Amino acid sequence: MSLRSKDPQIYELIQRERRRQAEVLELIASENYVSDEVLESLGSILTNKYAEGYPRKRYYGGNEIIDQVEELAIARVKAAFELPIDWHVNVQPYSGSPANLEVYNGLLEKGDTIMAMSLDQGGHLTHGSPVNFSGKNYNFVHYGVSAKTGRLDYMEILKLADRTHPKLILCGFTAYPREIDFKKFKEIAEKVKAISMADISHIGGLVVAGVHLSPIPFFDVVTTTTHKTLRGPRAAIIMSKDKFASAIDKSVFPGMQGGPHENAIAAVAVAMKEVKTAAFRKYAEQVVKNAKALARSLQDFGFKLVSGGTDNHLMLVDLTNKNIGGKDAQELLDLAGIVTNRTMVPFDPRKPWDPSGIRLGTAAITSRGMKEKEMSKIASWITAVITDHSVADNVRGEIKRFTKNFPAPGL
Ligand SMILES: *Cc1c(COP(=O)(O)O)cnc(C)c1O
Repeated sequence: MSLRSKDPQIYELIQRERRRQAEVLELIASENYVSDEVLESLGSILTNKYAEGYPRKRYYGGNEIIDQVEELAIARVKAAFELPIDWHVNVQPYSGSPANLEVYNGLLEKGDTIMAMSLDQGGHLTHGSPVNFSGKNYNFVHYGVSAKTGRLDYMEILKLADRTHPKLILCGFTAYPREIDFKKFKEIAEKVKAISMADISHIGGLVVAGVHLSPIPFFDVVTTTTHKTLRGPRAAIIMSKDKFASAIDKSVFPGMQGGPHENAIAAVAVAMKEVKTAAFRKYAEQVVKNAKALARSLQDFGFKLVSGGTDNHLMLVDLTNKNIGGKDAQELLDLAGIVTNRTMVPFDPRKPWDPSGIRLGTAAITSRGMKEKEMSKIASWITAVITDHSVADNVRGEIKRFTKNFPAPGL
C-alpha cells in the first residue's frame, strides 16, 4: 500500500511485471515461480542486518537471532540433500556465479588448470569463458559433447583429463538435456587426482526430489543456485567435504564477499523446507514428465532436438531445418507470449548473438499445475508461430486466456 502511494513509478512497474509473468508461458529453463512464503522472507526486515562472519563468529553485535536463521538454513540444506555427516554447507553466496568463483578462489591458485564443459556446448560463463573472471584467471581446458549423439563422451573426457592433468574437474551445465553420470566423472577425477566439483544449479530441485542422480556420494564439492528447479530465492549454496570447508568459508568471507544477505538466507531455509515435502517430489517428477511430453510433441511437429530428447527439465531445439535463426524465433515467440531464450547448439555454425537453437524448460509452467495435456497444446502453439509468423498476435490472446486457468504461485 505504501509503495503504491510513495513510489508509484516502481509500484506500477512491479504490477506490470506481475501481469506479464501471469499472462505468458514461461519456458526459460532457469526460471520459476517462488512461493508467497519465500517472497515474504525475501521482503522481510532481515535485510536490515549486517552479519559479516559466520554463526557465533560475527564481527557485528546483535546477531543472536540472525545466527539461528543461518543455522536453520544450513541444517535444512543438509536434510534436503541428505548430506553425510562429514559434509559442510555455506549458504552465504549471493548467487551461482560468485559461488563458483569462491570455490576456485578457495581451492586453487591463479593459473591452475580446471577442466569443464565448453560454453557453446552447455557450460556456464563461470566455467571458463574468456570474458569471465574464471577464464581470465584460471587455465581452462574444455570438453564438449559427442557430435554424433549430443551426449557427454566419458572416454573423451578421460583422455583430455589424462593429457592435461587438471587440478579440478567440473561438471554441471546450463544447457545439457541428459542425465549426468556423476560416478564416471568421479572415476576420472580419481584417476588424475583432481578435485571433483559439480555445479548442479539447473537440476538441484530434481536431485533433492530423487528424480536425478545426486553427485553428493561421489564428489568433493557441489554448488547450486537456489532459484532454478529448487524454486527458492536468487542465491546459491556451496556443499563440500569437511576437508575443504575452511578454505571455502574463508574464500566466501572475507575473500570475496562482505555481509551476507540474511533475508535471502531465510528464504533459502523456507525453500529447503518446501523441497522436503511430498508435494515438491511430485512437482519435480511432473517437471520431467512435462519436459518429455513437450519434447515428444515438438518432435511430432518435425522439430529436431539436440541428443534426440531430454531426461531432465530442459531441451534444446535445433531450428536449422525450420529456416529460422534462434534470435528471430525467440523474438517471434515473445510476441506470442511464449518466453524462451536462444542458445547455441553443439557445433553451431552460427554465432552466439544469433545462434541456431532455442532452449525450453518446464520448471516454471509445471509450478502453475500444467501437465502432459497442456504440453501438446504448447507444442502446437510453438509450431504455429514458427511456421506462420502472422499468427503470433492471435496466439498471444489464446495464451492469455489459457494461463488464467493456471495461477502461478506468488503472483
Ligand atoms: C545459472 C547457473 C549459474 C549462475 O547462477 P547466477 O545466479 O545467474 O549467477 C552457474 N552455473 C550454472 C551451471 C548455472 O546454470
